[in-house]
Amino acid sequence: MPIGSPRPKVAVLLVAAGKGLRAGGAVPKQYRIVGGKTVLHRAIAIFAHHPAVDLVIAAIGPDNHSEFAASAAGLPKVLPPIVGGATRQASGLAGLEALVPLAPDIVLIHDAARPFASDGLVERAIRAAVEHGAAAPGMAVTDTIKIVDDRERAIATPPRATLRAMQTPQAFHFTLILDAHRRAAAAKIEGLTDDAAVAEWAGHSLHVFQGEAGNMKLTNPEDFETGERLLSPLAALGDVRTGQGFDIHAFEPGDHIWLNGVRIPHSHKLNGHSDADVGLHALTDAVLGSIGAGDIGQHFPPSDPKWKGASSDQFLAYAASLVEARGGKIANLDVTILAESPKIGPHREAMRAAIARIVGIPADRVGVQATTLEKLGSIGRSEGIAALAIATVRLPWVTR
Ligand code: MG
Repeated sequence: MPIGSPRPKVAVLLVAAGKGLRAGGAVPKQYRIVGGKTVLHRAIAIFAHHPAVDLVIAAIGPDNHSEFAASAAGLPKVLPPIVGGATRQASGLAGLEALVPLAPDIVLIHDAARPFASDGLVERAIRAAVEHGAAAPGMAVTDTIKIVDDRERAIATPPRATLRAMQTPQAFHFTLILDAHRRAAAAKIEGLTDDAAVAEWAGHSLHVFQGEAGNMKLTNPEDFETGERLLSPLAALGDVRTGQGFDIHAFEPGDHIWLNGVRIPHSHKLNGHSDADVGLHALTDAVLGSIGAGDIGQHFPPSDPKWKGASSDQFLAYAASLVEARGGKIANLDVTILAESPKIGPHREAMRAAIARIVGIPADRVGVQATTLEKLGSIGRSEGIAALAIATVRLPWVTR
């Protein structure tokens, strides 16, 4: 197509007819969820939202009309699907025949199982097709490739520099690839595994342009795990830890206490080197415990004069910073206050807000409970206040 001609009419054919059960699970892999959406939805969306694409059609399995409709819902430019054939090659031809009345200039043919192709790759594919007639993205290979015989005996080692691992979207002048597919079918050629091979069989020269490492094909269960990680950094925080903390401080003469980061007027104060906030101390130990980082006394020794009268929010903030330094997130904190008095209820929301602010999480991830000890034991005799805490944190899985 000469420079200066109007923008070509671009159709996209998504090949989604495969049963694709290698990925595990009961539904074909293109209908599996990755990052909260089906693989097919993501693949369609790449093209439906691309300004250079005019229309999208999919070749699907005969039993997947409702799954397709759910995956395509809300996306523009999508035509009703057609039912694909028994092989990859047959599905390609069926999709191309369906496009004949629409007479596109260029057709991109894309594996539905590649949901991560970038806008830039689509752009390059269209340009390469306009210029070369038949083009496909390829990646240099890093593994040495062997050709083996039927007894798994290596019989050849092709020079690695000459090899490319092929991806999609493969891009063609529409009439070129339609004609190639029709001739291949008429010649009873079957089982070609990509459309580039069909074009090559028909005698066309195929231009290979640069693919993308991220344009992976979701095939095996591990590919879906990788896909989840790419789409949702939080989902990658699969290393869930819990930690517990306990603290107790005795009353002494005074007129207020600090509890869970809130100042509360009271008949006594709590004795301690810092502000003696038992709630924040227990929470600090819980967070430290969740990452195996010791306890509060180790990080903030009472023997160190610099912590005298210290506000305990800095202890908890420090523990939270250790989680952050490991690439983690605090999922939730929960603290139970054991005290005959003061009443916690009137302060509960202020406490949740204070704890949430200190560690930088939403208040709905913080729980504050309280109970009396029914006048039993030292707490029951109002000699002091104790606190129990638990923390749940999520760290990145680090595989070694
Ligand atoms: Mg303490």
